[in-house]
Amino acid sequence: MQIKERLTQIISELPQDVTLVAVTKTMPVSVIQEAYQAGQRIFGENKVQEMVHKQPELPNDIEWHMIGHVQRNKVKYMASFVSLIHGVESLKLLKEIDKQARKQERIIDCLFQIKIAEEDSKFGMSVEGAVEILNSDIFKELKHINIKGVMGMATFTQNKEQIKREFDYLKSTYDQLSEFKSFNCNFEIISMGMSGDYQLAIDCGSTLVRIGSSIFGPRNYSV
Ligand SMILES: *Cc1c(COP(=O)(O)O)cnc(C)c1O
Repeated sequence: MQIKERLTQIISELPQDVTLVAVTKTMPVSVIQEAYQAGQRIFGENKVQEMVHKQPELPNDIEWHMIGHVQRNKVKYMASFVSLIHGVESLKLLKEIDKQARKQERIIDCLFQIKIAEEDSKFGMSVEGAVEILNSDIFKELKHINIKGVMGMATFTQNKEQIKREFDYLKSTYDQLSEFKSFNCNFEIISMGMSGDYQLAIDCGSTLVRIGSSIFGPRNYSV
């Protein structure tokens, strides 16, 4: 099957209010072009350098999502164009995003990455950590970021019950955090679900799914 057919197939299965991020990490520009020609406009990358490298070679109306772990010293390279940063997991990182967005005279949309995996949970913060940021005095001064919701990655396992528990937890976290409302905090996005678990994620309340290999085939990390 071609990229266009896989893309059309997946989009046809998504509810109207669920957004697709096509995850193109490791894929060459030509592959992104093919998906673009099929109508896809939102693309996700997990490495800042890789995204910064691809962006100038592709059309301007693409929405670039940074879905991976972000080091603070890399924020400046993507601040002029990134449309959503999924992996915000500290106030320090948020402050740096605000600083770089201010230089670009932009507001950058962000998601809090919440640790939801019961196992192998390398990245993400606790709900308490997110609450602490939202309640802090520093947060109220960040005029160039907008927190739009939460992101989470379930444990890499075949155990559907466990994945469902983790997704349910992210949904309840979202419900809890969406009580915070301010000029720089407007919850409307729950980013959860990848190729292997996106149907389940949607059943659990996802509004944005990040799908790579089901559209583009397996990734080859050696090239
Ligand atoms: C790679 C990646 C995805 C997509 O994974 P697939 O299993 O290929 O769909 C989604 N989210 C994040 C954060 C990723 O790094």
